[in-house]
Amino acid sequence: MPFFDSGEYFQMTPLIIFPPAASATYIPLGVSYLKAYMDKQKGPGSLRVVDLNIRLWNHVADREEAFEDYRSFVKGEKGFFSKSYLQSYLAVRQNLKKKINDYLDRVALYLNKGELGFDLEKLFVFLTAYISSDSLFLGFSCLFPDQLLFALGFTRWLRETGYQRQIYIGGASVMLCPPEDLLESALWLDGLIMGEGELSMAALVDGLPPQEIPGFVWRNKGRIIRNRKPDSLSLKSIALPDFSWADFRDYFNPEPVLPVLLSRGCKWRKCRFCAHNFSFSGYRSIQPSLVADWFQQNFEKQGIRFYYFADQYLDSQVLEPLADELISRNLPVFYTFMGRPAADMTRELLDKLYRSGCRWISWGVESGSKDILDTAEKGTFPEIISGVLKNSREAGIKNLAMMIFGLPGSNDKALQETFNFLEENSSYIDTLTSSEFLLYQDTPFGKNPGKFALVPEGPIEFCRIGEKSISTVQTSYKIMENGYLRMPRGPEESDQWLKRKPWIYPPSIFDHIPSEHYLIISAIAREPDVPVRPFPLKEII
Ligand code: SF4
Repeated sequence: MPFFDSGEYFQMTPLIIFPPAASATYIPLGVSYLKAYMDKQKGPGSLRVVDLNIRLWNHVADREEAFEDYRSFVKGEKGFFSKSYLQSYLAVRQNLKKKINDYLDRVALYLNKGELGFDLEKLFVFLTAYISSDSLFLGFSCLFPDQLLFALGFTRWLRETGYQRQIYIGGASVMLCPPEDLLESALWLDGLIMGEGELSMAALVDGLPPQEIPGFVWRNKGRIIRNRKPDSLSLKSIALPDFSWADFRDYFNPEPVLPVLLSRGCKWRKCRFCAHNFSFSGYRSIQPSLVADWFQQNFEKQGIRFYYFADQYLDSQVLEPLADELISRNLPVFYTFMGRPAADMTRELLDKLYRSGCRWISWGVESGSKDILDTAEKGTFPEIISGVLKNSREAGIKNLAMMIFGLPGSNDKALQETFNFLEENSSYIDTLTSSEFLLYQDTPFGKNPGKFALVPEGPIEFCRIGEKSISTVQTSYKIMENGYLRMPRGPEESDQWLKRKPWIYPPSIFDHIPSEHYLIISAIAREPDVPVRPFPLKEII
């Protein structure tokens, strides 16, 4: 009898797993929204969550004194937290990260060659202790590609060692591989969940037949079937995440920094390079007063002060009412978000954001060349970006500029314009990240490559399962220039920038620390080298 038909099905609950490897400072958001939705729809306790990522970090830290010492410092157990102390722990942090990465290499080898190795087997056995065998099914929520890799290896091992229940994988990173390729090779999986997971999860829990589960990818008589994506879920039914499953003291932060969304999807949705829109349905936002209520409750009950908005970006229409709400409540909370440096981010608004607790904004600057910004359809200009950065800095907010090198249409002139821009605005930019342009199949650049002189060559491999190569939806490409094919400009431009960068932006600890620590230091210490005494967290109620 199929498991779906058995009477015991309805007495059990699913277990949702946040697998390694993500940052040890990240308190998972997607699973917390799933929990909030399921508890509201099906009653409290209808979904259980376990964060195996943080279990792994703590497991590794438990095994070496230097790691334990670092963990104790970043958790604020040594009494204070400052930029110079963080600096002194940089090498230990990198070693700890390397241990985690070594596990990922072993998982890749296991998937490819079937070679498990003693260490990886020991780790899998350790993690299995957190998985109850009486779960209705296991769902792995993978935000980052490394998590997808780990989840593939771990689920294979679970199946090989006799795990009986259904196993599904979902989350944003599943969208990075063609699901048919994944399911054809990962025969131990029962299905994949594409897009926002709430409706799919509810349908799975209700035991609906596979063809009725939105966003579900499954096997039927040797064929892989991809159901249509879930409809956009109204945010009225799922306003805020539920972190009640988490013990914040497990995470590597002196105080909890909670992620939250004010909206889902991207309102602009036009940038031609952007692959972020694959996993979300249409744009929706929630009432800022709901978020302010939630901040207030969290502060009063647990003393939580730090948040980051994980939205694709926030614009003035949602930010202004949020700031008004927070100012009127006089709440001692601090937050960060991602912004598009466009004309609506006025000095007046930025002043208000500062007063409401905003201490840091990551700006999608991308380029300092008007032509490149136009080609990418960013909807803003270097002069506007420059004004926004200046106003933000003068309002007291730290600016992180996110740059992309080698965007389509780039040339020596455009690169020089970007260098000039970064130099001229260096007094307004506190730190920056640089990445190289990647071509994704379903983006506007990927759908119409010829128009932008891009010549796709073929998908890039994600991993190998046995002999089979699992590709990504990212494509390698060349550029057509004056009738000749040439290599993409990203690596060369990035290299040139990294050689110039130290002269304009001296190396800083902020280039290396997790965003949660950056927020805490920028928020609490006006002068970032002043030690910060962590706020005593109230017992979780
Ligand atoms: S880069 Fe940001 S603003 Fe542009 S489409 Fe993507 S998510 Fe939207």
